[in-house]
Amino acid sequence: MQQQRTQAPAGRDPAEVFSGLSAEERGVLDAADRFARQELYPLARRMDDEEWWPPDAMALIGRNGFVGVTTPSRYGGAGMDLFASALVAQAFSRWNHALSLSWVAHENLCLNNILRNASDEQKARYVPGLANGTLTGALGLTEPGAGSDALGSMRTTARRDGDHYVLDGTKIYITNGPVADVLLVYAKTTPDKGAQGISAFIVEKDFPGFRVAQKLVKMGFRGSQTGELVFDGCRVPAANLVGEEDRGVRVVMSGLDLERAMVSPVCLGIAERALQLSLEYARTRRQFGQPIANFQMVQSKLADMYVWVEAMRVFTYQALRACNDLEEGGGGRGEIHKITAASVMFAANTLNRVLDEAVQIHGGAGYIWESEINRLYRAIKLLEIGAGTTEVRKIIISSEMLRG
Ligand SMILES: Cc1cc2nc3c(=O)[nH]c(=O)nc-3n(C[C@H](O)[C@H](O)[C@H](O)COP(=O)(O)OP(=O)(O)OC[C@H]3O[C@@H](n4cnc5c(N)ncnc54)[C@H](O)[C@@H]3O)c2cc1C
Repeated sequence: MQQQRTQAPAGRDPAEVFSGLSAEERGVLDAADRFARQELYPLARRMDDEEWWPPDAMALIGRNGFVGVTTPSRYGGAGMDLFASALVAQAFSRWNHALSLSWVAHENLCLNNILRNASDEQKARYVPGLANGTLTGALGLTEPGAGSDALGSMRTTARRDGDHYVLDGTKIYITNGPVADVLLVYAKTTPDKGAQGISAFIVEKDFPGFRVAQKLVKMGFRGSQTGELVFDGCRVPAANLVGEEDRGVRVVMSGLDLERAMVSPVCLGIAERALQLSLEYARTRRQFGQPIANFQMVQSKLADMYVWVEAMRVFTYQALRACNDLEEGGGGRGEIHKITAASVMFAANTLNRVLDEAVQIHGGAGYIWESEINRLYRAIKLLEIGAGTTEVRKIIISSEMLRG
């Protein structure tokens, strides 16, 4: 009886039962893990030390088949679902979380958003390059005066001028901003209408009037390039308006739900690596004549970390499965809005606890900048700030629950 209960149901791979992944999904995770360990992990230290961006990072990832995961095959992509792309993010985050963040900005915030909202003509122009990594993408929503209130306080404007729009304003904290070729940018076409007067545009880095004002230096995710972008009479062809004028809020809101769902596997991948490093350290570090893994207080931390990581996995995958079922044009409200905010809030807050214990297990070695666990520890805060802060996530969850 006991034996039977611990066995996988007939015909199912035990790994599938315990991880909740199908054999095909397991294959995606393992392939991305192998690639990231071999190719991305060796870049991580220099990226963190020097805020260095490997010049052909996205092309390297593309050549190995890990860009354009959700892109249909007619545009050169793999034609898989959002869940598969989240597994890539999870695997990349174990070995190089800075590149993983940049990859999510490229793959999800920019490319997936264009796939879901752009016209066939726009997709034909931009998707093939983005989907093979020869072009790097970014998304520009946040502004110096518009963070949590990104829509209401947005000051960037887009004025129609013949067959162009003229964009004026500043975007800040934009991941990939300093290295992006193609940017999905939000601006107000009818400022009097507030959030209902926002439109989305595809901007190329060489459009006149666009410039990178500065690259920002960060405490964590340091190799991922973050910048301030200026639109100074930037002329964007009217053909680059994504969707209809003044209908950008729908594009933003559905995109934000998927972005939150995609940040959870970043948290999960970092947490898995932190637990692995802590186990290795606990086994090898000796004090009082024995490995510190022999001490029950260290064992208690390891047990807590294991439980937290597994709980992150379940919630992360649950929210992603719900996103896979999201209908065209859905998101930005209702159950999906609530569960994606809840999953990323739980994942980020729990990662905080995992990393706190991981550094504690490493003792002084964990406090040293150049140790890997320290690099992971410095990543925590962004995951409680970007894609909507913890407070904004709570507002979303509670307002969805309280909606009459
Ligand atoms: C490294 C990095 C990368 C980023 N990448 C991108 C990107 O690629 N594209 C992009 O568009 N943006 C990006 N962002 C921006 C990110 O989404 C914002 O930083 C985030 O939404 C918070 O906005 P803010 O920093 O202006 O904080 P603020 O909105 O000023 O918030 C400050 C504090 O006030 C709290 N607060 C605000 N309003 C409320 C409220 N109503 N109730 C309770 N508390 C509240 C917040 O929770 C927070 O604690 C990035 C940010 C960073 C740091």
